[in-house]
Amino acid sequence: MALTVQALKVGTVHGFSQAALTFSRGQFEGIDFAIYMFLVRGGDKLLLVDTGPGTPAEVKERHGFDMTQLPDEEPRAALAKAGVKPEDIEVVVNTHLHWDHCSNNDLFTNAQILVQGSELHYAAHPLPTGRASYERKPGMSPAWAKAFGRTVGRDGDYELMPGVDVVTLPGHTPGSQGVLVQASKRYLIAGDCISCYANWEGDAGIAHIPSGSFTSLEDYFRTFDKIEGFGCAVIPSHDLTVADHPFFD
Ligand SMILES: [Zn+2]
Repeated sequence: MALTVQALKVGTVHGFSQAALTFSRGQFEGIDFAIYMFLVRGGDKLLLVDTGPGTPAEVKERHGFDMTQLPDEEPRAALAKAGVKPEDIEVVVNTHLHWDHCSNNDLFTNAQILVQGSELHYAAHPLPTGRASYERKPGMSPAWAKAFGRTVGRDGDYELMPGVDVVTLPGHTPGSQGVLVQASKRYLIAGDCISCYANWEGDAGIAHIPSGSFTSLEDYFRTFDKIEGFGCAVIPSHDLTVADHPFFD
């Protein structure tokens, strides 16, 4: 069976800063962004890349953001619509451990959860500017710790199964990683290294635009060079238009 990627939308965050997604661009513009889980079918194991946010109430309480989630965007419902139960998922890859990418790890009770070891370390000990995204706040139990017993730190680039490779993409966070999927063409599930198509498309100033949220711009631009070398199509993590074209085959 050929490999396919399907984006499952699990929420929309409203009134976010454009510049937080596209480095210094749109300083005074508010935007909405989408949150997805990515289902990879057709391989040796059923794979889910990223597990989305908590409920809208949790997101408001823990982060102050206004997030909407339609009934069919609730993670269980989104999976059911795709014909999958949470317990069917055999492997979860978290591109990184920011709350909007790992808050439902505990839902996938039969899955091994794969993260870069460097990301696990940084999630536990982030710089002060990263504490909110990793939920390292007083009295708050971080989302990434929910299924910690099944979470494995595995460093570097490696083949996860035939046609599916995990690749390091540092810059947005130290242990950011992506998943390369060989379908009819090669796709990269890029995580927040590439939040929106606009990041990859660049502008008159630079070929590719980093996120406004980063831990190393040097790493970030080396990662862009690495992605160029893959000769792949990119699947961004937060672009609203991905929901209009959710199948990559
Ligand atoms: Zn992030």
